[in-house]
Amino acid sequence: MEHQVTLQEMLEARERRAFRQQELLAAHRAPLISFTMNIAGPVKDSPLIREGFELGLRLLRKRLAAAKIPVLHFEEIRAAAGNEAFYVLDAPLLRIKEITCDLEDGSSLGRLFDMDVIAVDGRKADRSELGLGPRPCLICGGPARECARSRTHTVAELQTETDRRLREGVCAADAKDAARLACQALLYEVGTTPKPGLVDRENSGSHRDMDIFTFFSSSSALWPYFETCARIGRETADDPAPETFRRIRPAGRQAEADMLAATGGVNTHKGAIFSLGILCAAMGRLPRSFWRSSDRLLKECAAMAHGLVEQDFGGLTEENACTVGQKLYLRHGITGIRGQVEAGFPAVSQAGLPTLKKGLSAGLSLNDAGCAALLALMTAATDTNLIARSSLETQKQTVSRIRGLLESQPFPDGETLRRLDREFTEDHLSPGGSADLLAICYLLYFLEREE
Ligand SMILES: [Zn+2]
Repeated sequence: MEHQVTLQEMLEARERRAFRQQELLAAHRAPLISFTMNIAGPVKDSPLIREGFELGLRLLRKRLAAAKIPVLHFEEIRAAAGNEAFYVLDAPLLRIKEITCDLEDGSSLGRLFDMDVIAVDGRKADRSELGLGPRPCLICGGPARECARSRTHTVAELQTETDRRLREGVCAADAKDAARLACQALLYEVGTTPKPGLVDRENSGSHRDMDIFTFFSSSSALWPYFETCARIGRETADDPAPETFRRIRPAGRQAEADMLAATGGVNTHKGAIFSLGILCAAMGRLPRSFWRSSDRLLKECAAMAHGLVEQDFGGLTEENACTVGQKLYLRHGITGIRGQVEAGFPAVSQAGLPTLKKGLSAGLSLNDAGCAALLALMTAATDTNLIARSSLETQKQTVSRIRGLLESQPFPDGETLRRLDREFTEDHLSPGGSADLLAICYLLYFLEREE
C-alpha cells in the first residue's frame, strides 16, 4: 500500500531539508544541488517514482563527471515524503545551474525533476540568471507557478500526467540502455580476436560471404529491435513471462529482415537476435536494480522460454523435420539454443561468464578473457552451427580437443588460438552458436560493471 503523505509530514520534510542544506553549506563552504521530485498528490514515493528519481541521479552524475566537477559530498534520503539527494560541488554556481536546467528542460521526464542550486550564502540560483523562462506547466505548458496558484488543473489530471511521464521516461531510458549494451556486446563479440573459424579483426575465418564490416552493419541494424524487446518486456512485466516471449517473436522476425537488408542477404546474427532479444526483454521485465544480477536475469529468460522446446519440437517427425536444428533434435535429442534458453543459459552461467571474469581478475584483457570464454562455451553447449557445417561426430571430436586444450591451458595464448583458427578454417568449421553465447556473456558483464 502506498503511503499518503499528510501536509504535516510534507512541512516537516521541507524543514528538515532546509536545515540539512544549511548544515552542508556551512560545513563545505561550497554550492550544492538539492534534488527532489515534483510529484502531484499525496503519494510521494512508489517504485515508479523511485525509478524516475534514480534516472535523474544517473543523468546528473554523468553530466557532473563530463564537466569534471568535483563532488565534495553526496547523500541520498529515501523517505515516504519523497526522495532527496544533495550534491555539494566545487564549481561556480551558474555552471552548476546550467547543468540542472539542461536536465530539467531536456526531456519530458525532466519536468518532474526539481534540482535547486543553492549558493554558500543560502541564495537559490534562478533560471532567469541564465536567460531562461519560468518552468512550464505539466498540462498546458503555461507558467507552472501560475497554474498552481490558481489551481487551473485538478490533482487527478496532474497525477495522470505525472504517471505517464514517469512511465514513458523510465521505460525509454531503460530500453535505450538495453539496446546500447546489446549492440556493444555484439561489437565486442565480433572484435574478439583471434576466434577459431569465426569472423574477427584478423580474418573472416570459415566465411566467404561476410567480414567484420558485415557484422558492423548488422549490429547497427539491430539497435531498434533490442530497444523494442526491452520495451515489450516492460509493457508485459505484469503478465506471465511466456507472454513477453510470445510478444517479442514478431519483432524478432522483423529484425531478421532488417539484418538481411543491412548485410545484403547474409545471416550474421540470427542466433543473437533470438538470444539477445530474450535477454533484453528480461531486462525490461525486471526493475533495473536486478540488472546487475546475471542469475536473476537468466532465470527470467528461462521463465519466458518455458515450454519452448516442447512447443517448437514436440510434433516433429522424420517427414516434417526440415531444418538442421529440427533433425538434430529428432535424431539425437539435441535441443540447441532453445534448450539453452529454456534452462536459463547454463553454458553462460557455468562456463562462459565465470571464465570471462576469471580471466579479467587474473589481469587479462577483455579480448583475451573473451577468447577463453568462447572456447569454454564450445565445450559447455552443443553448438549446432558446428554440426551444420560438418557432422555430429566432428563436433564431438572438436569439443574433446578443445576440452583437452583448456585442461592444460585454461587461457590459451595468441599463438595457440591462431593455430586453432587456421585448423577450423581449413575444415570450414564455425562455432557461431558459441559466439552468440559469448555476446550474452559480454552483455551480462557490462551490466554488472555499469550498474
Ligand atoms: Zn497549466
